[in-house]
Amino acid sequence: MSLRALVGTLLAGLLVASLAIVVASRYFLQSQLSVIFPPELVQQSSQALYVLLLWQAIVSVVFVLALLWLLYLVLEHYVMAPLRRLVVAMEGFAATGERLPLPVIKKLPKEIQVLVRSFDQVIDRVEISHKKDVEVSRVKSDFISTAAHQLRTPLTGIRWALEALEKSDLSEDHQALVKSAKDKSHELVAIVGTLLDISAIESGKYKYTFLPVAIEDMAEEVVHDFSPAAQKAQVSVYVERNAQVPKARADRERVKWVLNNLIENAIRYTPAGGTVRISSSERAGKVQLMVRDSGIGIGSEDRDNIFERFYRAQNAIAVQNGGNGLGLYIARTIATDHGGDLVFAPNEDGIGTTFTLTLPIAER
Ligand code: ADP
Repeated sequence: MSLRALVGTLLAGLLVASLAIVVASRYFLQSQLSVIFPPELVQQSSQALYVLLLWQAIVSVVFVLALLWLLYLVLEHYVMAPLRRLVVAMEGFAATGERLPLPVIKKLPKEIQVLVRSFDQVIDRVEISHKKDVEVSRVKSDFISTAAHQLRTPLTGIRWALEALEKSDLSEDHQALVKSAKDKSHELVAIVGTLLDISAIESGKYKYTFLPVAIEDMAEEVVHDFSPAAQKAQVSVYVERNAQVPKARADRERVKWVLNNLIENAIRYTPAGGTVRISSSERAGKVQLMVRDSGIGIGSEDRDNIFERFYRAQNAIAVQNGGNGLGLYIARTIATDHGGDLVFAPNEDGIGTTFTLTLPIAER
């Protein structure tokens, strides 16, 4: 109940109580007077007695009303208004992280002063730890970026050397060894590229170029690129086209990266004979692309961690040794940087998973 409502209720209660007291007092006094004075006299003075009591009640009520009003003004000024301002500051900080002006402490009651000071200290602490987090994150990103840059040059050198060696006159065994080393060096170069992507995205250095993108066309391109891998894994991949879906506002290169990751995962984590279905729709003013597989699924124990860096579920490790657990982390960061999202859910029939990428619609 607000202070205003409380004061209103008190006032109404006070008026009713005063009227009741006046009526009760009249009958009480009348009965007392009739013991002392003759009944005719009591009868004659009854009206005057009533008016007297009424006046007394009116004066008392007006006096109490004035007192209550004064109390209300004092409470409003010294307690309610500062509390309201504090609540606005708290809500503003919780919603935007911005520091809004707090009530001026000097003239406030002690308890409110303590409250305002405590909140101010909490904000200080939160800001200090946020600054620390940002700094730690910056140092980490710098480290990853430096390490990845340092690794890239020698790795590229090794790859070229292996490619040159592969073309030379080697025995079959040596050829196989060199080919395996070259494949591994490709994987390493890809990992280093991923690390560079992460540090660029995290440090905000990556600049997106948003253009209208036909997301289904892009999905078809990616499916086409992965068709040898899908054939090898004996997984059927379909794109269900939907002519109604508008273009998305997206960075082509980055979103293609996301689709690569989602479709590659879907094929990777689906056993032979399974299917991967890609469909799209427009929902709540956004474009949605769904990648639905009939694969190994994501267990409930892993659901909260799947977008964490380097996280891989046990069932995934069991079927696929390769993988670094970074793809989904980057993919979701890219999606949210677009003003969209990336989520997943187990399929209704209990087999496999559906990942849903949401992107804003391009201006028409
Ligand atoms: P990676 O696939 O290289 O391990 P990701 O970040 O792409 O890394 O995926 C993280 C983890 O999420 C995977 O290791 C796997 O446990 C789980 N995952 C991703 N996609 C699927 C999927 N389609 N089906 C089942 N599990 C998946």
